[in-house]
Amino acid sequence: MLTLTNIHYAYDQTPAVIDCNFTVAPAQRLAIIGPSGCGKSTLLRIIAGLEPGHRGTISYDGVDITQQPAQQRRIGLMFQDHALFPHLSVAANIGYGLHGQAKSAIVARVESLLQLVGLPHLAQRYPDQLSGGERQRVALARSLAPSPRLLLLDEPFASLDRSLRDRLLDELPQWLTREGVAAIYVTHDANEACQIASDMLVMRAGQIVRQGPVATLYNDPQSQFVASLLGMPHSVAYTATPHGITTLFGDVAIAAPAHVGRLLIPADVGMILDPNVPVALFHGVVTASFLRAPWQRLRITSLAGDAQFDYDMPQHLAPIIGTTVTLPVRLDRLTFVASDD
Ligand code: ADP
Repeated sequence: MLTLTNIHYAYDQTPAVIDCNFTVAPAQRLAIIGPSGCGKSTLLRIIAGLEPGHRGTISYDGVDITQQPAQQRRIGLMFQDHALFPHLSVAANIGYGLHGQAKSAIVARVESLLQLVGLPHLAQRYPDQLSGGERQRVALARSLAPSPRLLLLDEPFASLDRSLRDRLLDELPQWLTREGVAAIYVTHDANEACQIASDMLVMRAGQIVRQGPVATLYNDPQSQFVASLLGMPHSVAYTATPHGITTLFGDVAIAAPAHVGRLLIPADVGMILDPNVPVALFHGVVTASFLRAPWQRLRITSLAGDAQFDYDMPQHLAPIIGTTVTLPVRLDRLTFVASDD
């Protein structure tokens, strides 16, 4: 188990990572998400042992590794622009970190990693004879070769096209499980985070603002900042009434929390699979409509005032732009979030 305690790091006088605390269990897959510049890569570099000037402690299985050099930590690192050695074959690239081991052991390990990433037929190729996706597979195999106990991945597939990225995102968790290695996966893309990880940690301006299971964060993001990162950018002001709350779109029979906040309206709020699920009716006008496969996403604007939310529905049911609509919204998908300041 990796444990970070009160980790703090500043470039010159500017803090990049502020008082971070978290743990990663054996074989756990944790995603770190946050906007560009919030400190994700710096945090990974600290864990890898590449930023020795930080404050706080890092331990692994109870052993303090804060002062341990990077190469002794058994922590692998893979970046987006992970360069392979151009003058070495695929097999030699993968085996590079194994020098010192018996030759037969190296050959067997490289062979099993080539099988793992589906490239046994390319062992003798050179990096410039590979596609972008094949290069990333080789880079991953190379990171896994020395059997790290933890693999740090910093947007490893960001430069690949969408279909290739999706395929690797599907395969990576299987590889990690087969190798029994824990992973921290850094991304600014919440969908990627969900594909890879069961748990998520959200950073903002150097600080961890939220951590927990992926589903918990989705169902109750608690702040507009976290909701927006998770693809739910629309919330609306409300006022409490004796029967619940009132908004620019209509009344909702749910109790408002004591603190001042906003009502979060995720785009799946109209996905009513169970006819018994309680709904409210929201009134507005369709001001935009676009395909977000497999759904049609409608932008609904309030009839008075200036509020908007998105509403996904099957394409064949979607009204055209300009239609005034009354739409059912599921009460169980509405939550309250702190306003973003
Ligand atoms: P992220 O990975 O979330 O995009 P980074 O960890 O790369 O964020 O950067 C965090 C902050 O530290 C940013 O404000 C960035 O400008 C700053 N920073 C990163 N690297 C350096 C550096 N080598 N020197 C000075 N500031 C840096």
